[in-house]
Amino acid sequence: MTGETGVAESPWQAAKPYPVAEQWYRRLDLENGVTRFWEPHVHPLEQANFWHIRGRDRDLLIDSGMGVVPLRASFPDLFDGRDVIAVATHTHIDHIGAVHEFEHRWVHAAEARQMEKPGGVVSLVCSDIPPWLRQLFLDAGYPPLEELLIDAFPHADYNPRAYRLRGAAPTRLLADGDTIDLGDRIFEVLHLPGHSPGSICLWEAATGALYTGDLVYDGPLVYEGPGMDLEVYAQSLRRLQALPVRVVHAGHDPSFGRDRLDEIIETYLKRWGM
Ligand SMILES: [Zn+2]
Ligand SMILES: [Zn+2]
Repeated sequence: MTGETGVAESPWQAAKPYPVAEQWYRRLDLENGVTRFWEPHVHPLEQANFWHIRGRDRDLLIDSGMGVVPLRASFPDLFDGRDVIAVATHTHIDHIGAVHEFEHRWVHAAEARQMEKPGGVVSLVCSDIPPWLRQLFLDAGYPPLEELLIDAFPHADYNPRAYRLRGAAPTRLLADGDTIDLGDRIFEVLHLPGHSPGSICLWEAATGALYTGDLVYDGPLVYEGPGMDLEVYAQSLRRLQALPVRVVHAGHDPSFGRDRLDEIIETYLKRWGM
């Protein structure tokens, strides 16, 4: 890792010029008080969705992107004067970037340490990612990781070398079967490991909406890597098959319905011979 050797870092010398993004975040307001966010200038591998859900007494934020740009200040209409519970579906870099901005930070107990002191990919500089891990992402079907995990800067004098995934200590540890109550709507925590040991999905039975994090999305799933387990992954997918899902709001790529969920699950179970 850079920055740990005591050697002064050189200023960022880009191999190519980076444009300045007009806006960092994209936002789509959906039905039922749900807002989807994503970061279009982040590499497809780490370009995650995160979700704001308005409740009567408090709001829920499911994941928080990369943390390249402060999140709360970017959306005062959603966050100002509101009690917000920030839940992480798991603790990869693209899901906990802005979690430190929130007072209530909840994660499954199995990833408590990782949320407080993130490891693995914590930098925007691709050469900081070990070559074997870059190869694994390539093999999974993602475009090559070249210079940076972003293709534009949030402002003209941005220094991508100064970025480090911060993380923050969780304030509540979640377990399978826990419920999150917003006053007028309830989400159930499903512990569904496989992509990572503490991966959770959030299930809102009243609307049939399932928030899956990186367990299932409509793109190349990443299932071989540190903390990942195929047997466990398959078990988690089978548990989803039993839920009366209407819509899946996933950690990456656009949302989809029940039929596509079944197709994706069957594709991977078949590929793994399970
Ligand atoms: Zn992700
Ligand atoms: Zn992930």
